[in-house]
Amino acid sequence: MPTYILLFGAPGAGKGTQSAILKAEYGIPHVASGDLFRKHLSENTPLGQVARGYIDNGELVPDDVTVEMIRDRLHEPDADHGAVLDGFPRTIPQARELEKLLVEFGGKVDVVLSLKVREATLLERVANRALTSGRADDHPDVLAKRIKVFLSQTQQLEDYYRERGLLAEIEGERPVTDVTGQIHAAIAARTGRD
Ligand code: AMP
Repeated sequence: MPTYILLFGAPGAGKGTQSAILKAEYGIPHVASGDLFRKHLSENTPLGQVARGYIDNGELVPDDVTVEMIRDRLHEPDADHGAVLDGFPRTIPQARELEKLLVEFGGKVDVVLSLKVREATLLERVANRALTSGRADDHPDVLAKRIKVFLSQTQQLEDYYRERGLLAEIEGERPVTDVTGQIHAAIAARTGRD
């Protein structure tokens, strides 16, 4: 049975860093919706053309477009054993769609890891990242909006997964290895894997 791990965190919470570690340890790919969108943008695919305006404004791309993109990605052979999903779902309708989608793959959401980092720390981390990332949406004005959108939507999603006993809150301001340790413990507690 494939393993699906969700990783929640505001921009700058450390999702990219921890996803890379999980990928190396569990052999399941890091599927980041933001990265997939950026690939579509750079290749100027039809999906990229639809998504561009939303992304440049720091707004969410419509759910139907986003869900189709994730479905296509999970069908790729490297995701046969599951995936670490980063940045998806971001809304309750997306979470519901994901449940249906994972049934198609013979799996379910195994654990939801929520990386908790204070807003001041997020702003500082992403200001540093913007110096080298070249990402238009790392600009401070767009970033503030992305964080606001994230915080307003995540509360509900966290409640959704907490009610289902799947949510693990991780102290994301600790050193990287400490954060990884908390993540291992959460995965082991909910899947029996270590
Ligand atoms: P991220 O790199 O995860 O911050 O995503 C960058 C941008 O891609 C976001 O600001 C949104 O415009 C879009 N995006 C990424 N994931 C989603 C999603 N699950 N639903 C809608 N839009 C998304």
